[in-house]
Amino acid sequence: MVKIYLDPGHGGNDPGAIGNGLYEKDVNLTIALKTRNILTDEYEGHDIRMSRTSDVTKSLDARTDEANAWGADYYLSIHINAGGGTGFESYIYNGSYPGKQETDRLRNIIHNTIMQHVDFQDRGKKEANFHVLRETVMPASLTENGFIDNPNDAEKLKSDTFLNRIARGHAEGLAQAFNLPRKEQLDGVFYRVIAGSFLVRENAEEQQNKLQQKGYDSFVDIFDQDGTRYFRVVAGSFTDRANAEIRETALKEDGFDSFITTYKN
Ligand SMILES: [Zn+2]
Repeated sequence: MVKIYLDPGHGGNDPGAIGNGLYEKDVNLTIALKTRNILTDEYEGHDIRMSRTSDVTKSLDARTDEANAWGADYYLSIHINAGGGTGFESYIYNGSYPGKQETDRLRNIIHNTIMQHVDFQDRGKKEANFHVLRETVMPASLTENGFIDNPNDAEKLKSDTFLNRIARGHAEGLAQAFNLPRKEQLDGVFYRVIAGSFLVRENAEEQQNKLQQKGYDSFVDIFDQDGTRYFRVVAGSFTDRANAEIRETALKEDGFDSFITTYKN
């Protein structure tokens, strides 16, 4: 088991950077949770812990102590930049230490994989004397995912589909760095892209017409929850979650909000 410690930076009474209506702590957490979910859904051979899974205050010492005590194999800290600039950069500890070459090798894989998934400018692979990089005893890196005070970067960080892509870069970078095996495709499990959920069937059918005009075939699925019947418009069903996310992005670009659910045959 490869032990991966995911650290969404800041939290609670430490918001991190603020800009364009965004708090860094919230975006960090969203990216980290999405990263965890992709690894859990699609890969095996790993054990994931997170420094936080909600908006709580936690000191830097508490984070690195926890990862060290757990015996993590990798520490990945997720942040958003600020201060005038644009794009993505990553950091490892700038000291001289045994294992620095390996730390750099792992970081390079993760950095390059993230860059393949997003259209951020690449600001480079850097080194710094950050607490979480210095005080961790295992290889560690820190990602800075765009500038919260840059309107263009912030616009991207407000898009859920963009955050899915950043998270996919982090998850697949970790998977590649540690040779995590892909999960066997589960028999009879489908990832459905739901482009609307309605109380009245006619409204669902109207949505189907709109989708049809943009070239999306769909079907209506009846979904009962807490005594209420919903008519869900399924605009894609896939055995691979990544393909469902591609459909979700395409729908978004055509003006349709959607979400992904799993369906067991
Ligand atoms: Zn930060």
